Amino acid sequence: MRTKTRTAVKTLVWCLIFTGLTFLFRRAAPPETAEDAVPSHDGGICLALLTDDGIESVTMEAYLRRAVAAEMPASFGLEALKAQAVAIRTYVLASHRHDNADICADSGCCLACRTEDELRTLWGDDYAANTALIAAAVAETDGEVLTYGGKAIQAVFHASSAGATEASGNVWTEQPYLVSVASPETAEAVPNLLTTVTVTPDGLAEALGFSPVGEPVSWLEGTSCDSAGRVETVKLCGETYDGAAVRRALGLSSTAFSVLFDGESFVFTAAGSGHGVGMSQYGAKLLAAEGWTYDEILSHYYPGAVLTHPDET
Ligand SMILES: [Zn+2]
Repeated sequence: MRTKTRTAVKTLVWCLIFTGLTFLFRRAAPPETAEDAVPSHDGGICLALLTDDGIESVTMEAYLRRAVAAEMPASFGLEALKAQAVAIRTYVLASHRHDNADICADSGCCLACRTEDELRTLWGDDYAANTALIAAAVAETDGEVLTYGGKAIQAVFHASSAGATEASGNVWTEQPYLVSVASPETAEAVPNLLTTVTVTPDGLAEALGFSPVGEPVSWLEGTSCDSAGRVETVKLCGETYDGAAVRRALGLSSTAFSVLFDGESFVFTAAGSGHGVGMSQYGAKLLAAEGWTYDEILSHYYPGAVLTHPDET
C-alpha cells in the first residue's frame, strides 16, 4: 500500500514537471507567423507628419526609422542608434510646434526625416543592411520614452561638443535634466571638430551691426564664458553681443569659440557642432564604441530623466 502511494506520488510529480516544462517551452517558443507576433507599441501610434507635400499619416515606427536614418549615420552603431531612437520618440511626444501636425520634416524647425527613395539613393548597396540596423534600433526600444516628473522631456540633441555639453539655461530655459555634462569627443575621433571662420573687419562690423571705432586691432574688448565654458558675451567697439547671436550672425558651428585678430582679419575657431544641449551624437557614438548601452548613454546626457517603458505607464 505504501509502495503504491509512493508510486502514485512519483507519477503525479513527474506529470507536474512534464506539464510545467511543456508550458514553459510553449511560452518560450517564438511566434511562428506574423499573426502571432506581438504588435509594436510604436506601430499603434499614428502621427501627422508635415512635409513639403503636405500632411502625411505615418506610424511612429515608420517615422522613427526615417528620422533616425536622417539624424544619425547608421555607422554610429546599434546602441547609439537606440539612444537616438529614444531621443527622437521622446522629442516627438513632447513637441507642440504645429497646430495641424505632430512633427515636421524640416530640420530647421523640428527634426530631419528622409523618404525611402532618399535613403535608397543615400545608402546604395548598404540600403538593406542599414535599414535592418535602424529597424532593430527602433524595435529594441519600442515605445520607450524619457520622462521627468511623469512627462516626456525635451530630448534635444546636437552633433558634437568638445569636452562638455551646454546647460539649457544658457541657451533657452533651464531644465533639471539638461545640464552640462562631460562629453568624450576629441579632434582625432570627430571629423571637423574644430572649424574656423575668417571675417574681415568690415564684414564683422556689417554682420553684427556696430560702428567701427579706431583700428581693428583694438575692437575686441573681451569675451565672457558661461558655466559650460561656452561664449556668453563678446564685447566689440563698446557693444556687447550674446555668444549665440555672434554664432548665428557669422555661421559659427557652435558657441564654444575663440576669436583673435591676425592683423588683417578676425579669426573665429569653434569647437563642436550645434547648440550643445542634451545628447551629443558623436559623444553617443564614442561611448557606444566603449561598450556603453543606450540606456547608460541616455542617463549620462539627460541626467535625472527616467527611461519609461510603455507597460509601466
Ligand atoms: Zn516643425
